[in-house]
Amino acid sequence: MPERPADLPEIERQRLHDASQRVRESTLAFLNDPTRNGQAEQQAIFDTHLIMLDDPDLWEMVEQGLCQDRLPAERAWMAAVDFHANRLESLPDEYLKARAVDVRDIGARVLRQLLGLPDVTLADITEPVLLLAEDLLPSDTMTLDPTKLLGFCTCQGGPLSHAAILSRALGLPAIVGVGGALRAVPGGALALVNGATGDVIIDPDPATVADYRRLHDVQAEQERLARVHAHDSAQTVDGVRVEIVANIGSVEEARLALDQGAEGVGLLRTEFLYMSDQQVPSEPVQVEGYRAILEVLAMRPVTIRTLDIGGDKCPAYLSLGQEANPFLGWRAIRVCLDQPDFFKVQLRALWRAALGHNVRIMFPMIAVPEEFRRAKALLDEARQELVAEGVEVAERVQVGMMVEIPSAVVLAEAFAREVDFFSIGTNDLTQYTFAADRTNAKVSALADSCHPAIFRQIEPVVRAAHANGIWVGVCGELAGDLEAIPVLLGLGVGELSMAPGRIPAAKHTIRRWSMASSQAIARRVLQLESSTEARHAVRYAQVASAVESPVTPNSGKGLA
Ligand code: PEP
Ligand code: MG
Repeated sequence: MPERPADLPEIERQRLHDASQRVRESTLAFLNDPTRNGQAEQQAIFDTHLIMLDDPDLWEMVEQGLCQDRLPAERAWMAAVDFHANRLESLPDEYLKARAVDVRDIGARVLRQLLGLPDVTLADITEPVLLLAEDLLPSDTMTLDPTKLLGFCTCQGGPLSHAAILSRALGLPAIVGVGGALRAVPGGALALVNGATGDVIIDPDPATVADYRRLHDVQAEQERLARVHAHDSAQTVDGVRVEIVANIGSVEEARLALDQGAEGVGLLRTEFLYMSDQQVPSEPVQVEGYRAILEVLAMRPVTIRTLDIGGDKCPAYLSLGQEANPFLGWRAIRVCLDQPDFFKVQLRALWRAALGHNVRIMFPMIAVPEEFRRAKALLDEARQELVAEGVEVAERVQVGMMVEIPSAVVLAEAFAREVDFFSIGTNDLTQYTFAADRTNAKVSALADSCHPAIFRQIEPVVRAAHANGIWVGVCGELAGDLEAIPVLLGLGVGELSMAPGRIPAAKHTIRRWSMASSQAIARRVLQLESSTEARHAVRYAQVASAVESPVTPNSGKGLA
């Protein structure tokens, strides 16, 4: 880094200000460009970059470097960036640790501006390639044309790295965290990547290339058909309909969900209102936030989950405190029940926003019936207060709970007598079943929800629900897992709620199974012992049935 005379802090401050302003402008231009793939994940990454550019702690340290240490802009800036990134890297939380990459990325972008270098370096790719990289930074994607990318592999990164998030957002095959072996691959080499199996083949023989081409063509055709029929309903071959709804957390995702063929929302995460604000959002702010989403969905069903903070989501203003085991601690309904006045703000806003819409309300992290009863009582109280005040509210809403703690599975029969519906949160159910923190990459091998241990818990929950005449859905990532879907169908789950981008393929999968064959695969999977066996069994059954009776996707009316 070139040293500059440091005798004029004002000049250096101005240079830094101009450089960060240029980065801010190019980020905003990217976010506002309608021709880019406006994926929610990418949007969130760059929103975070904008917040970091304004981080007062970072600038305070820069100021100290400029004025006290009389450093040139480049050194003052990078010293502050390094300090912040190192601090994040030293934290035990894997998610926060992974955010150090964002700090270094934004740091490098401003530094490039200071040095008069171009903002990013991947703009030269002009023809479709497979990208092998040390790691992919969020800003690398700004000038990278996704249509020129066939897929990518990185030496570094894990399931929460940006490269992984990006591959999901762009729907590209990718393998992250391959290790140093990738560095030995010469540029321009021929390579094959299979994102489903994690295989990277360098210099493949012609027969393997031909196999991969065939596989690729079949898959591309399936995806095309899934997109064409995305807005048709999802019915099994023998005409059983499954509700396909979306998991969302913003107005943009509500629009995206409809665009992808969602029939409603199975999980509206309300944390978005609490995370983006510097203070607890007021009742009117919340009413407006929920209404904006409900208006996009019109009269389609929307299941709104009450606040689920704690764990890995802790807005600074709530002072949740440091805990040794945040996922086992003061989280979600526990925080809300302990602070009824705080909780009531949300409950009142929900009643008001629900007026004229098809809203269901559910409580997260319910461990014992007493919690559900107390939450329900507060919800009723909130409505009575509003009515007494003469405020217009919804007449009635269905009130359900997330089943995401093993105790709720064990007590499903008791819960089913009191709730209007169950929504099974397989993300948390998996972490609590295997005692494996969902944000810790070191135990991610235990994080596959497509496991008989999870299906064996879904089975009694569905049975209890049906015995008591209530409906049951799944809203964890498992609901959008194409290999898990036939098993969930076979177990009798009636609603699947997933990330919007998964909807077309999920519907396509449902149309390829009959209830009889999905019940058979569910019975088989319940006998197995690992997720590998479960996935293999589903794949095998799918191939076997395709060989017996080739199917084509139809318009959702059952196969002729
Ligand atoms: C879940 O736990 O499966 C779930 C859907 O909720 P979240 O991922 O928000 O905890
Ligand atoms: Mg959960």
